Amino acid sequence: MATSVSSRPANKRYLGNGSPTKKEVHDLQNEKTQCQIDEIIRAGHAVVFTPDTLTQAHAEGYDNGHYCIGNSRR
Ligand SMILES: [Zn+2]
Repeated sequence: MATSVSSRPANKRYLGNGSPTKKEVHDLQNEKTQCQIDEIIRAGHAVVFTPDTLTQAHAEGYDNGHYCIGNSRR
């Protein structure tokens, strides 16, 4: 399940951009400037996953972030 967050999650590895035109997941342990995590949070598009796994993000239709994960599935 994906849950909206309004600030940077301290205890999660993956953060999704839930914007309908993006739907991408980012790895906070490999965060790059290009991920624009703070911008995603500010725009109100940030979501976290339960469980906190890439498999879960994929199951919810999120694609891999290009810079922090790679191998975009689109
Ligand atoms: Zn990223």
